[in-house]
Amino acid sequence: MDVLPKIQALRDELNQHNYNYYVLDNPTISDYEFDTKLKELQDLEAKHPEFFDENSPTQRVGGAITKTFETVQHEYRMYSLDNSYSKEDLLDWEKRAQKILGDVPLEYICELKYDGASISISYENGKLKRAVTRGDGFQGDDVTNNIKTIKAVPIKLKGDFPQKFDIRGEIILPFAGFEKMNQELIEIGETPYANPRNTASGSLKLQDSAEVAKRPLDCLLYSLIGNNLPITTHFEGLEKARQWGFKVPTQSHLAKNMNEVFDFINYWDKHRHEMPYETDGVVVKINNIHQQDELGYTAKSPRWAIAYKFKAEQVSTKLNSISYQVGRTGAITPVANLEPVQLAGTVVKRASLHNADQIEKLDIRIGDTVFVEKGGEIIPKIIDVDLTKRPANSEPTKYITHCPECQTELERKEGEANHYCPNFYGCPPQIIGRIQHFITRKAMDIEGLGGETVALLFNNGLVTNYADLYELKKEQIIPLERMAEKSADNMIKGIAKSKEIPFERVLYALGIRYVGETVAKKLAKHYKSIDAIASASLTDLILVDEIGEKIAQSVIEFFDNQENRLIIERLKQYGIQLEAIASADTTVSDVLSGKTFVVSGVFEKFSRDDLKKAIEDNGGKVGSSISAKTHFVVAGDNMGPAKLEKANQLNIPIITEDDFIAMIHG
Ligand code: AMP
Ligand code: ZN
Repeated sequence: MDVLPKIQALRDELNQHNYNYYVLDNPTISDYEFDTKLKELQDLEAKHPEFFDENSPTQRVGGAITKTFETVQHEYRMYSLDNSYSKEDLLDWEKRAQKILGDVPLEYICELKYDGASISISYENGKLKRAVTRGDGFQGDDVTNNIKTIKAVPIKLKGDFPQKFDIRGEIILPFAGFEKMNQELIEIGETPYANPRNTASGSLKLQDSAEVAKRPLDCLLYSLIGNNLPITTHFEGLEKARQWGFKVPTQSHLAKNMNEVFDFINYWDKHRHEMPYETDGVVVKINNIHQQDELGYTAKSPRWAIAYKFKAEQVSTKLNSISYQVGRTGAITPVANLEPVQLAGTVVKRASLHNADQIEKLDIRIGDTVFVEKGGEIIPKIIDVDLTKRPANSEPTKYITHCPECQTELERKEGEANHYCPNFYGCPPQIIGRIQHFITRKAMDIEGLGGETVALLFNNGLVTNYADLYELKKEQIIPLERMAEKSADNMIKGIAKSKEIPFERVLYALGIRYVGETVAKKLAKHYKSIDAIASASLTDLILVDEIGEKIAQSVIEFFDNQENRLIIERLKQYGIQLEAIASADTTVSDVLSGKTFVVSGVFEKFSRDDLKKAIEDNGGKVGSSISAKTHFVVAGDNMGPAKLEKANQLNIPIITEDDFIAMIHG
């Protein structure tokens, strides 16, 4: 049979499924089926390198490394937008346009202003040719390899597209994806990203496109550029772009006059927080393309469009003091303690100050009146100082030089934003934080022991590291605050039970910097024992799939430390799993990565717990109830009718335990 037609059919099919999923938000096959087809295509392409196509959906996983981004001239300049902050500004803008165009009726398109990084993408013969950042408007950076990994960006168009054109849009990071990325960073003790916009624009300039592919970026398109495009209005352009396969937000609205523009603005000023991504305003554009041409451009921006910026919810209040928090990894975070004030429906008492640079840049001083704003971040931030209200005797803030908890001199590594307390083994919040991490559900999952009790145990001198937990005696615990015979029993039992926790989770529990759940799994699978990891060399570690130099270095440092080695020896003596148990039926892999399963009913080959463990061992997640986020329901006997109905309603595939076994062994 002919291979090429088969390859092409698979490519078309996968492109269509990407479109259904990422543009229409309406998948028609399961992720599993998608992955199976993608794998089939990958295999065929590997066997037939002669049919390589840089625009194949297999290329979306990334892998191309861009050492330096080539500078490219924009064929059509990328202008900025004039900003307006009031309805009067908009009426003035209308008047100016009317003066040039004469007294003709004008129609407007209102769009949301998406807050991300602008991008210009060129297509030729229906194929993505090049993607370039805005840069200075005249020339930008060629980031094609990275843009191709964003699944909402079509690599092959459909319908009656023009032979050659550019399309402009915004690369954004929706809130949900941003929070997930930050959660993962926090888990491995790294500093979370400040906001979605900077993270989105930073992503475009990553050298490794495989890294970009992992980020949940999206691309929203808002304008077509080219010669002789088959459109007479902007609105038509949006509709056409949508037909060719682009993601064009449906909120865009045709307004017959300024009053309708104001209605749109008023509506979205209230409802913008309901959008899954950040919007900072509305862009108003004159609909008719001929009128646009007649109006032309100023030195910086089109005369036919204007941005209306929403007022960020902002208040001013007094900065009473700055406190410095010490995290589990020793990172110092300055926090502003404010005179309590009402902002966007909540009382704000604290705001994030990020780091020393931020304080210095804004010259924030205690006693200052500061402006506080709630943006894309969860914690409000200080955006400026009201210098007119600065007390006469105020002094510049001196950033602390020593740890507020253990008085050790702080360090700041070249190129890092944060200061660190290097007293890893003696600094109380670091010690407590490490033990708290050790007992969490994803780590040793110790029942009967919570974060506050860990602090209590530490403060009473009963534990100074996680190995000490295994030596705790009931008699030592009972006298503690809020402890009784029963709770002490439970704690001891919970600690003893954690000896069954498998090696990969123990490895994660150790809290080695940069070793999160996924990395721990990789290392455990590759080395199979703590001793093997401890004696691995740097080069050896780097050779493990997905382990970079930073992680490898951190692993080496951890095991170089005498105290850590002693703790590990003790854990061994207590019977903690420090070796992987070879088991025949539950393979460990990440074939289920990114998939959420709900387990329902009774099974023959697994207990429910084993089934859940098998899901997690293979990189999947176990959800507690069926929702749109569920990928599969594994159903045994006696699955509840309500669950069945819900799964059918949401079109979630229901699989048997045998299907499941085939999935992890396939
Ligand atoms: P500014 O950066 O403030 O000059 O605003 C101009 C930028 O707004 C453009 O470069 C686009 O990246 C961005 N933008 C976001 N949404 C839209 C939209 N709907 N129409 C035009 N530009 C937009
Ligand atoms: Zn300290």
